[in-house]
Amino acid sequence: MKTQGTQFTGLCPECGAVIAYEVGQWIERGVLWWGSEGQCERCAHGWCERDHGPVTPDRVRQALLTAHGPVRLGLADVPDKLVPLLRALRTTEDLTVAEARARAGELSATGLFGTLVEREYLALGLRDRGLAVVLERAVGSTEPQGPDAAAAVQPLRNVARG
Ligand SMILES: [Zn+2]
Repeated sequence: MKTQGTQFTGLCPECGAVIAYEVGQWIERGVLWWGSEGQCERCAHGWCERDHGPVTPDRVRQALLTAHGPVRLGLADVPDKLVPLLRALRTTEDLTVAEARARAGELSATGLFGTLVEREYLALGLRDRGLAVVLERAVGSTEPQGPDAAAAVQPLRNVARG
């Protein structure tokens, strides 16, 4: 089971006391799950939520990205057919055809950034359809978008080259 979690402190939404939050993402029986829990010792405000599906709440994702950094998923080869790629993207991320096409372009060009578990999840879907992928840690950046995405993985490549 692929899993990633982190703990951090925040303020209780009820009374403002400092409390410990725990969030995580994991893959269980081929499904992407996320969870979040916390307990206030002053006012007893507490929650434990978990759910599955293609969209993890942003507060959970951001906590994981801050704690562990983003990873980059790219294609090892330029695919000769686009259909398996679009199918994998549509099923794992719940996208429309137009959205999947945009994501496929992004994946081919700069790669897709995200948390370890969500990129691992997409990698499973792509591998299931015979596509070779590269999963690597994007060092020293928060989740970059657009042209900055390529620059974000550059330090890692330099290190690998020696
Ligand atoms: Zn409280």
